[in-house]
Amino acid sequence: VRATRGGEEVRGYVPSMGQIFMRRFQMVTQFRQSLEDGQVSVHYQPKVSLPNRQVQGVEALVRWVHPEFGRLSPDEFVPAIEAAGLIGVLTGFVLEESLKRIRKWLDEGLRISAAVNLSVRNLADEEFPAKVVRALDQFGVPPELLTFELTESGVMSDPQKALPILRELHALGVVLAVDDFGTGYSSLAYLRQLPVDEVKIDKSFVLGMGTDLGDLAVVRSIVELGHSLGLTVVAEGVEEDVARDQLEAMGCDVAQGYLISRPLPEDRLEAWLQARTARSPGRQAHNVLTL
Ligand code: C2E
Ligand code: MG
Ligand code: MG
Ligand code: MG
Repeated sequence: VRATRGGEEVRGYVPSMGQIFMRRFQMVTQFRQSLEDGQVSVHYQPKVSLPNRQVQGVEALVRWVHPEFGRLSPDEFVPAIEAAGLIGVLTGFVLEESLKRIRKWLDEGLRISAAVNLSVRNLADEEFPAKVVRALDQFGVPPELLTFELTESGVMSDPQKALPILRELHALGVVLAVDDFGTGYSSLAYLRQLPVDEVKIDKSFVLGMGTDLGDLAVVRSIVELGHSLGLTVVAEGVEEDVARDQLEAMGCDVAQGYLISRPLPEDRLEAWLQARTARSPGRQAHNVLTL
């Protein structure tokens, strides 16, 4: 690709269609082996409740360090894995890792929930709720400590198929959240009909709310709408303390973002938690975060 900048020619590297295809092909054919080889892992990003800033839960985010491609973004490989029909394998892995983590915390006397992102393709699997029940039983985790996050466009793409599965999951007592709310064809009327407990404001609005009055208005109206529907409202993409303070003033329930912490590998998350929470029960006052 050629372009000119200030009269000077610059050459940018743009992969060809063939190279993109090969890369995706390698990703999908190597995924299972990569899991076995330990190249795929789960990072956890803490969420804190407002205004007390106690750790409310974590979001599980998949990571893949490929020997040839390096760190792959989930925004790149998750869609490839989905298209190849392997999302069940990926979700199963993330779910199991997350339940192990919750179990470990329970054994230490901590009740911390974990949120796992689902693809709409998980909801096409009629066996999915039964698999979730088995996994919860296997690790002895109460369902209310597990959240599933789904994008609204995902649910909307095939509501006939997705809705019964969502209702089944909800009936189990698992928490359901609508992710990236406000993007795509968000239908407010539809949100009312979804069996959900939580709405996550898309980070684009939260990142923009400090400089863009439109974004601020969107955030404010999602908080109000969510509350009027009895939902917990979570803001993702909280990078600045100004944003956190504004969200707190609006009554937003939970904050997640780089200000609180980046997604962390297991060992660093443990250190992060240890530094910020008191482990002994009955000393709630120490279970407070200062950011
Ligand atoms: P998401 O579920 O909306 O996750 C939030 C994304 O925002 C994460 O990107 C997270 O690292 C990033 N983020 C968190 N706080 C901030 C912040 O303060 N500023 C900014 N700029 N970004 C922030 P990540 O980990 O790259 O994941 C991207 C997307 O990939 C996720 O968006 C989710 O849709 C998908 N994904 C990740 N893990 C999984 C998984 O296990 N299964 C499925 N199906 N999808 C996944
Ligand atoms: Mg999410
Ligand atoms: Mg999101
Ligand atoms: Mg997203």
